[in-house]
Formats: sequence, C-alpha cells, structure tokens
Amino acid sequence: MTHNYESIRAETTSYLQDLIRIDTTNPPGNETRAAEYLAGVFKREGIEPIVLESAPGRGNIIARLKGDGRAAPFLMMAHLDVVPAEPDKWTHPPFDGKIVNGYLWGRGALDTKQLATMELMVMLWLKRESQSLARDVIFMGNADEEAGGKLGAGWLVQHHPDLIRAEYAINEGGGFGIEFWGHKFFTCQTGEKGTARFAMRTRGRSGHASQPHADNAVLKLADAIQKIGAAKFPLHVTPTVRVFFDGVAAKLGQPYAAQLAALLDPKQYDAVMQRLPIDASMRSMIYAMLHNTVTPTMLNAGTKINVIPSVAEAKCDARLLPGFTADDLLGELRPILGHAVEIEFQDHTPGREADHRTPLFETIARVMARHVPDAPVLPYLVVGATDARHVTKLGTRVYGFCPMLAPMEELDTVHGHNERLSIDNLMFGARVLYDVVSEFCEKT
Ligand SMILES: [Zn+2]
Repeated sequence: MTHNYESIRAETTSYLQDLIRIDTTNPPGNETRAAEYLAGVFKREGIEPIVLESAPGRGNIIARLKGDGRAAPFLMMAHLDVVPAEPDKWTHPPFDGKIVNGYLWGRGALDTKQLATMELMVMLWLKRESQSLARDVIFMGNADEEAGGKLGAGWLVQHHPDLIRAEYAINEGGGFGIEFWGHKFFTCQTGEKGTARFAMRTRGRSGHASQPHADNAVLKLADAIQKIGAAKFPLHVTPTVRVFFDGVAAKLGQPYAAQLAALLDPKQYDAVMQRLPIDASMRSMIYAMLHNTVTPTMLNAGTKINVIPSVAEAKCDARLLPGFTADDLLGELRPILGHAVEIEFQDHTPGREADHRTPLFETIARVMARHVPDAPVLPYLVVGATDARHVTKLGTRVYGFCPMLAPMEELDTVHGHNERLSIDNLMFGARVLYDVVSEFCEKT
C-alpha cells in the first residue's frame, strides 16, 4: 500500500476533493450524488456496491469485502451529509475542494467526508492487495446524520439490518489527540451522551401591558432560565470518564494525578477547575463529560406587544450522561426550578458506553503506538451524539476513531467557517485506519 506514495496521496486527495464538491448540505441532503460517486469508485475496483434511497435524493451506500466467515463482520461507517456553510464567511469557498498550503478546504473536510475517504481507501487497499480476511469488512456511507439519522443510519438499521450488522464498527467521534501539560494522548470514543429535549413552561395572569404585575409568565420564565444558567448540577463519574482520567493520571504522575483525582470529587471540583491551566474549550468539555447539561435554545411567548401573555415557553436541549434517564434529569431540575415550572419531555435518546477491554481497542492502541509513540490511546466520552446511537441497536460495539494528527485548534472549524484538513493528516488517518482494519480483520 505504501508503494508509490505520491500517486496514492494524489488519489486519496482527489476522492476527498470530489466528495466536498458534491454539496450534501442537510437539509435537504441530496446524498444520493455522493453515494453514486462512491459507488462508481467501488465498481471500478471490482467491488459491487449497493445504493439505497430512504427518500428521494437521500442515498446511502454499502459495500462489502467478503471474509471467510470465521469471525463476525466489521463495519466502517461515515455520514455523507454536511451542515450548512454560510459561504460568504469563508476565506476559500466551502464546496470548491481547493487546496491551499497543503490544506484541503471545504464543508465536510472534518465532518465526515474525510472519514468516508479514509474508509474508502482502506477498502480499496484491502481489495488491491487481495488480503484474505477472517471478517467481512463493510463500508457504510450514509445520509442524514446531521439531522438525527432517521433517513440514514436509523433507516438502514430499521429496513436493511442484514446489510450492516457487525460485531464492531468504526465511526466518527474520536481518534483526535488531546494534550495535558505537554503530554499527548489519543482518544477512542467508547461512549456518548444521550439527549433529552423538553419544553419548560410558566403560567401567569394575562392582562394589559400598561398595568404590569408580578404574575407574568414571561418574568417567571426569565427567572427559571436564569436559575438554569446559574445552577450547579451534580457531578457524576461514568466508567468511561473514570478510565480516561485514570489513564491521563497514570502517564503524568504526581502532582497532576492528585489534581485529576480531585477533579472527580464533587467537593473539590470547582476549586480544582479554577486552578487547572487549561483553556476555556477544554474546561467546558470536561464539565460536559462530568455533568448532565441543560441548554435553553428557543423562546416563545406572547402574540401582541401590549398584552401580557398567560403562557411562556422555552425549549431546552439537555444532554444526559450514559446511564441517566429523563426522570433522573427531572430529579436534578426540580431542586433548581421548584415545582411551579412545567417540564414536558419531547424526546429522549439514552447515552451509551461500550466496554474498551476488547481486541479491537487493543489493536487500535497497538497500531497507534507504532505510528505515534508515547501517546497512549484512551477511551473517551463524546458529549454530542453520532449515528452510533442507531447502529448500537444491532448489538454492534461502535468505537469513534477517525485518526487525526492535527492539533485541537485545527479541529475547531467543525460546523464552523473555514473547515479544512491537511493532506498530511488525511494520509495519516488513512494509513492508521488501514493498519487497524487489516490487522484486526485479516486471517491469522
Ligand atoms: Zn457534524
């Protein structure tokens, strides 16, 4: 696979450029064009793909390399849709696939057309080398992740489970590096938080705005929102997070180990957080890894400026740690809000955690140690949500591992302006992933 590196680099780069040039902004998605593009590449290589539309234009692609069946299938998944881009705010256009100073610019370069490209290359290299596999290796490029996955991974799980059923899967969500006090670690996502969306409602007496009174639903709602903003939610240490911090502490030694242990202690958390020399984004990430969070995002009250409305409503996006339910969250909200505020849950997806003590995790750790020595791989809890929530329903162990050498700041453009990825990083990811998949799936 490493013979003729320059041509492999050019080939890999051109696939990602082409994928970025196919605008799959969701909504509306239009992922079929991207799925058909990938299908064309697979067919040229003698791999027979399947393209399935969940709705007009909403294409998903699946391709499979057969193993001898001695071990259960292995899935590589990536979503083909992207979030909207606001092109006028970009330095280089989001759908041109331009390369500037070694960086490939475009919406999806980090989320997740780069992963789709890495996985595509793994499939092509396995096929070209006629590697004999003990497991089927399945590629899934799916629609609709950015809108919840009902027309993508969720639809495939429901309507075509046999095409994607696997023992293990590789997905987005981890694989990037994290630094603590000059020491580098790599993440492998083994858990992710769940969601609980709810409406928060207050009621009061309607009336004429010229005669203000305190029984005003809008004032009560403002008060409730303030309370959520100022609240201290309880700290919870889930198994994934425990193993993550233990791993960091083990490498750093004292005095850091003691500080990290104190961070997980509810009584010391605030004081330690203030002392730790970490930046604001790491701070809020660590907070979210240790707490159920509630974020008010939408407001609705009143129909006329001179009428005091009798009802005011805020929509809140809550994220739950694995193992917590909407009822648990309600138990944390009531002491903050009291009982006068109505809370109505609208949807709830539980979080999940997968055991990291598996042969796949071992393979990932071993391969990474070869590529980047002295940077251990740690299980990691992602505070957002991915398509893993759908695929785990088939009993699949899903690990988020898109290998990224880039520093954290570079990855900050996900969902933002000027999303870009260095070609070096793209190649690093493809090669690491190839080593992981070939070593894990080959006949031994
Ligand atoms: Zn995304």
